[in-house]
Amino acid sequence: MPEVPQPRLVLATRNAGKLRELRELLRGQVPGLDVDTQVIDAASAGAPDVVESGVTFEENALLKAEQTARATGVLAVADDSGLAVDVLGGAPGIFSARWAGGHGDDAANLHLLLAQLADIPAERRGAGFVCAAALAHPDATEGTSHTETGTLRGHLLETPRGTEGFGYDPILVPLGLERSCAELSFEEKNAISHRGIAFRALLPHLVHALA
Ligand code: IMP
Repeated sequence: MPEVPQPRLVLATRNAGKLRELRELLRGQVPGLDVDTQVIDAASAGAPDVVESGVTFEENALLKAEQTARATGVLAVADDSGLAVDVLGGAPGIFSARWAGGHGDDAANLHLLLAQLADIPAERRGAGFVCAAALAHPDATEGTSHTETGTLRGHLLETPRGTEGFGYDPILVPLGLERSCAELSFEEKNAISHRGIAFRALLPHLVHALA
């Protein structure tokens, strides 16, 4: 019987889109790590759901990474992300995935936000996607976890545009571009995204932890 590869890293997410993004960010970046067989998701690792009880992106990312690492005995990486709208004082923020009530109802979240911003003129529609990425060891003692953050600034459209991506992508136009995030290719978005920035900053710590 062929030997089953041991997982070396758990990505603490159940979102297939994020899993794909994170695997691609890791591919070829960590010497000796086979991204397809040794990097697994929370469900495959049998990790329990984590209650996101933090009040910041960093706190929630740390909670997810630490609890997943402890439960699986494997190094874990997690992220928490959302959209921060200037005129709403940073909301929906950590509530982005459940802004309209039900968790992960992207269409309802987006339409509620657009209705709330209906009277706000173009020059006051600044916003940004924010991501905190966290790395935690299974034997985490105080202070061994690590977090990094990334931001993608832009402005919000009045009408959604594009079919790529997920969540609020159809209404955020990144600074310096004219297309919404949902009109960018997977590669174009990864190159500038909040998640890409946060995870690229986390990579040296991950390489060190896996060495
Ligand atoms: P999380 O899964 O708890 O991190 O929630 C993230 C939520 O923030 C998603 O459900 C989206 O609504 C929003 N979000 C985060 N990153 C993005 C992105 O790259 N594009 C669009 N929406 C995003």
